[in-house]
Amino acid sequence: MNINENKNELSDVKTDNVSLNQEWYKLSNKKICNIFEVNPETGLSNKEAKNRLEKYGRNILPKSKKTNWFKIFLLSFLDPLSLIMILSGLVSGLVSIISQKIEVVDITGLVIILVIVLTNSIIATIQEVKSLNQVAHLNENKQTAIVLRSSKKTEIDIEELVPGDIIFVNSGGFVPADTRILDNQLLKIDESALTGENEPVKKISDSIKEKNLMLGDQKNIAFMSTLVIEGKMMGVIFGTGQESEIGKIATKITGHKPEKTPLERKVTRLTTIIGLTSIVLGLILFLISYFLSDRIHDVQPGKADIKNLLLIAVSSAISLIPESLTIIVKICLMVATKKMARKNVIIKNPKSIETLGNVNVICSDKTGTLTQNKMTVDKIFLDFKEDDYNNFDKTKYNDLINCITLCSDAIVEKEKIGSATEIATIEFVKKFNINYKSIRKNNERLDEIPFDSKRKLMTTVNNVDGRKMVYVKGAVDYLLDICTNKLIDGKVTPLTQEEKTKINEQLYSFAKRGLRVLGFSQKDITEEKQRYENNLTFLGCVAIIDPPREEVKASIEEAKSGGIRVIMITGDHKITAFEIATRLGITDENFDGVLTGQDINELSNEQLKERLQRTNVFARVNPEHKALIVDLLQEDNNIVAMTGDGVNDSPSLVKADVGISMGITGTEVAKGVSDVILADDNFKSIISGVNSGRNVYEKIKYSISFLIAANISQILTLLLILAINQDIALNSVNILFHIFIIETIVAVPIGMQKERRGVMKNPPPTHKKESLLKGIRSQIIITTLFNTLFAVLNYEIAVWWFNDDFQTAAKFGKTGVYIAIMFSPIFYSILYNNFFLPIKSTRQNKDVDKYRPNKWLLILMLVAFVFTTLTLIPIEKVNTFFDFTTVGLNPWLALIFFINSLLPTVCIYGTYKLLLKLI
Ligand code: ATP
Repeated sequence: MNINENKNELSDVKTDNVSLNQEWYKLSNKKICNIFEVNPETGLSNKEAKNRLEKYGRNILPKSKKTNWFKIFLLSFLDPLSLIMILSGLVSGLVSIISQKIEVVDITGLVIILVIVLTNSIIATIQEVKSLNQVAHLNENKQTAIVLRSSKKTEIDIEELVPGDIIFVNSGGFVPADTRILDNQLLKIDESALTGENEPVKKISDSIKEKNLMLGDQKNIAFMSTLVIEGKMMGVIFGTGQESEIGKIATKITGHKPEKTPLERKVTRLTTIIGLTSIVLGLILFLISYFLSDRIHDVQPGKADIKNLLLIAVSSAISLIPESLTIIVKICLMVATKKMARKNVIIKNPKSIETLGNVNVICSDKTGTLTQNKMTVDKIFLDFKEDDYNNFDKTKYNDLINCITLCSDAIVEKEKIGSATEIATIEFVKKFNINYKSIRKNNERLDEIPFDSKRKLMTTVNNVDGRKMVYVKGAVDYLLDICTNKLIDGKVTPLTQEEKTKINEQLYSFAKRGLRVLGFSQKDITEEKQRYENNLTFLGCVAIIDPPREEVKASIEEAKSGGIRVIMITGDHKITAFEIATRLGITDENFDGVLTGQDINELSNEQLKERLQRTNVFARVNPEHKALIVDLLQEDNNIVAMTGDGVNDSPSLVKADVGISMGITGTEVAKGVSDVILADDNFKSIISGVNSGRNVYEKIKYSISFLIAANISQILTLLLILAINQDIALNSVNILFHIFIIETIVAVPIGMQKERRGVMKNPPPTHKKESLLKGIRSQIIITTLFNTLFAVLNYEIAVWWFNDDFQTAAKFGKTGVYIAIMFSPIFYSILYNNFFLPIKSTRQNKDVDKYRPNKWLLILMLVAFVFTTLTLIPIEKVNTFFDFTTVGLNPWLALIFFINSLLPTVCIYGTYKLLLKLI
């Protein structure tokens, strides 16, 4: 078929200034099907669909603009830290020019600064491009649509849809291509993505006569990427991919840049503060050394070498800044995002990793998240008697069978389509060889009110042997309110109050066993506009088993031991909810029982807030109640994660600190607005996510602690030796080389260590505004103390060794300081493998955590060690370059220097052990 050819047939509807695509709404249902050569009863044949796919291409929107990595690379130089570094490099270069004497040393300084800035920018660019691609990849997540092909309803990738396909979209689903609606039930579509109009549009299936209609007025068209808020529809596709309305504007939409996470912002703030402080310190250092210059041994009396002093001041200032921290944060978040994806937790925005780590309340749905969502009918309650499902006598309950099969959309073939509850009931009738499909075929559906979690009912009207039969199924307590009769042995008699009580008692008994109960009812109607959901005849109930997920109990235990409260919020019956919650350990005698949606309606917000502290189970709630619960929990300073799957769950998912949607059962809307998607719908994965979030936070603290300690030690050593011996023990090249080795090589893998399970034994971090230094101050102090002590000691040992010969003492003293300042952090970095140094306020749980070496740290420690050792080779030229000497260094003295650079590691570890014993 050639659509262009067929378009000629449209001449009768064509106007001069309206494009063809805007005129599909004018055609009758029959005409549009003719044009696309499709029979709405059978759909396209598989073969024809394949041909059209080849001809018209896949149903994909034009890709958003490609990430421009070069632009990102250039922008990375605008980072405050890079700017400080570049400025310092320029100052040192300028000094050289002013002094009109460019030496190798100055050039080296410049080169090292450049290497650091470049390395930082390259890593930052790689991370940025990666995360942008990840966001783009997320947007490309595979979506499916239900399509009629060769008379069969199947679920296919939306990319394979072609013009002429007959598709079905239910509430909560996105429209997969521009579609002319052929049939609909109470259809309302949110077209804000296309038209910007926030009010959902009520749709129709008849042709419209008016001309020149705007998109928003084309009521019989469902546009690609808009969202079915209510009801459902069936229609024929006329525009796919770039030919769709959204496709035409999609090219204009560019990929958005991921914003900085709060943690990244905190780190930037911390490093900028340190950066500014370091400039002040550098200035002080310069002034002190300048005014003391007469007494400094390096400088000839009266001839202060301003250039040299300035260079040292600038380099020490730079050395204080933990430059690599921002990159470490990015790497940590990236690694965690990847790891979590492997654990079925899809993070849409790295910010949520941090927030997950801080969560102290998780509000979870029951069905599917805490339970397996594998529903099976277990018991039946017919003629006021409970029985096992396999004793069902199909010859006696024809009306019930009709209600089960007709008032349902589930399809149970090789593939199962529909809600788990409906699938369970269809599977139940199929066990008795009842052909649900032929029942549906013989009793045409005339009307319906789809199930919604507010009414907790579903209604259909069918033509059964010429009678208009209304079938209503749903939550029994809701159904009983609208039933006035019962059907027993083919006779309809009034349903008395005692009988209602009996049914309620049975409901209670089922619910006590954790079963979900579904009731069925019917009536026939004669009048045109008769109400459906009243004066019904009760037919009976089925009780459905949905066992709790086995692994969830342990996860809830883990959450509790980590100071996280788990709250169950469900639409199910309160007794069923309570039973499952008790089995899973969500509630116990320390808590009040269950609050229902109705209870919530009767309580003031203040009262509810108070009850919230004592209640962990909420049943028969509506989506609005969920949003209210999040609000009140947040008012009490809780950090709340909330799960959701339905369209109506969006407000609570948006409100929660972390909105978590379900990958399998979740609607596209829920997935769209949530921060995290659980690929397996499993509660256990939420806890894995929390674990990763807490680990990221901890790893970053270790990195901060390590970097700050190593940097302060260096500048402190310089100041102390200046004060004690009036000598400048490190020059700018040494300082910059320290930055290069320690920051760029050793510190980065500290953020890449293995996750430890023990973080889940600690209470959640108590911030939002908590300082990044909380819990690591003592680590910084102890490490700095020993690092500085042994570096200064090396110098003093040289002074003592060479006694009167200060020139030689200073020469080898500097070598000693260099060895200590370089090697000490390389060695003690191993302690920053979270197992050794506990962060104050977190318990180390050795029973939970086995020591797992960080292989990256070990490899890079070795690389750093080799690099540094190479600089110590006793060759005159190498020595001059680094401004110290190893030529002629006494081997015993060398050994002492080396041992002294190992000792900080032993001392830090020993002190910590001692402190832990004392506290
Ligand atoms: P959650 O996922 O939040 O734990 P839920 O899935 O148990 O909740 P709902 O889907 O809102 O909650 O269902 C509430 C009640 O509505 C169920 O207990 C059941 O009796 C009834 N129900 C569920 N699905 C259907 C359906 N398709 N048709 C009619 N009634 C239904």
